[in-house]
Amino acid sequence: SFNIMTRELASVEMLRSDFVSDISHEFKTPLTAIEGYAKLLADEQDPDERNEYVQIIVEETGRLSALAQNILTMNKLEKGNIPAQRERVCIDEQIRRALALCESKWSAKQLELELDLCKVEIGGVEPLLMQVWTNLIDNAIKFSPQGGKIRITLLRAGRKCIFKIQDEGPGIPQRDLGHIFSKFYKGDKSRGSDGNGLGLSIARRVVEIHGGGIRAENTPQGGACFTITL
Ligand code: ADP
Repeated sequence: SFNIMTRELASVEMLRSDFVSDISHEFKTPLTAIEGYAKLLADEQDPDERNEYVQIIVEETGRLSALAQNILTMNKLEKGNIPAQRERVCIDEQIRRALALCESKWSAKQLELELDLCKVEIGGVEPLLMQVWTNLIDNAIKFSPQGGKIRITLLRAGRKCIFKIQDEGPGIPQRDLGHIFSKFYKGDKSRGSDGNGLGLSIARRVVEIHGGGIRAENTPQGGACFTITL
């Protein structure tokens, strides 16, 4: 992914200096961690400590490859490299699959999932839509407290469908609400965490390509709530 990304970045649009400095910053943190822990590993004899360092290196490598993947997707979306052909996409199945793919994350936090999904099929680009659900579910898990509940509903409203995901996390501070869909924007609580600030901007772009809209608000209980209309 990294090699493909470097090639793709040759496009002039992607080489705007603010973009390059955002990317460099995002790559620097995991790379510094990998370098540091690899050096420690070389001198460490204790097997438990060594295991811990290896674990950190594996996690940070995963973070780098997710970042490269997100940048590639963003680049494709910005260049308009989107398959013209739409296929029938079963949204409820995609959501179930997205949840299954990140089961290790929600079960580690012992989260309760409340699903109310009706059968919805739309014409769309399968892998791009899949990334929308994955990004939103990932965020909901990340911000949920241990043992919290995530509610996901998908319903039909006339010719449209409405997807909603609510969590019991801290919600989105008022000052962030207008910015979270911008590229590389991270709220205070997210700085230094494993996010890269691209998930929501990709989600919004994909939803718009499909003729829909996305909005964020907080629930009366204080958690975040994202609604997508397609
Ligand atoms: P990141 O990779 O940092 O999660 P996103 O683009 O997915 O990037 O999200 C941008 C910002 O929106 C996050 O840094 C966080 O401040 C806020 N955010 C997104 N989802 C949630 C949520 N479920 N609860 C609270 N804040 C959220």
